[in-house]
Amino acid sequence: MNDRARIQVHAGDITKMAVDAIVNAANTSLLGGGGVDGAIHRAAGRELEFECRMLNGCKIGEAKITKGYKLPARHIIHTVGPVWQGGGKGEAELLASCYIRSLELAAANDCRTVAFPAISTGVYRYPKEEATQIAVDTVSRFIEKRTLPETVIFCCFDDQTAELYRQAVAALRKG
Ligand code: ADP
Repeated sequence: MNDRARIQVHAGDITKMAVDAIVNAANTSLLGGGGVDGAIHRAAGRELEFECRMLNGCKIGEAKITKGYKLPARHIIHTVGPVWQGGGKGEAELLASCYIRSLELAAANDCRTVAFPAISTGVYRYPKEEATQIAVDTVSRFIEKRTLPETVIFCCFDDQTAELYRQAVAALRKG
């Protein structure tokens, strides 16, 4: 498959996605929170929290994997994005690292399809345009060199965010 066709954009709720792994924008405790994290924990059920308790948290820019429990997705990859503090605190590198570590875990667990939310762009206030560019560039560079995951889906909660991603992916296609 053409590398660029391996990146897709979808508008909707990530908890509904029947993929090998969905990525969770978690916090360092891994014990659930608001936003997409809360939605994933509610949809997966209490067993997810039990498994997460065994993981001893997760550092910013790192990722850990669990089962998907009641979700249609087989696995959940929990990553912790940086809180936006103006851009001078290594936020861009940390955000890129979330995507890389998540993709590495996906590949190590034989995941062919992976869906990402827009990590850090909610409560953590990362500016959407910049976060989108990092997400698309990092994923595109990663999959260029690997066979797994075969397909990466950016699952955007609203149409405006999906449009930003579509533009960033289209710009890749021209480049
Ligand atoms: P963070 O703390 O990393 O900023 P949030 O959950 O607050 O995480 O927001 C991350 C992104 O996830 C936001 O763009 C938000 O709109 C989006 N989001 C929230 N709920 C869902 C969902 N169910 N599916 C997909 N994306 C979601």
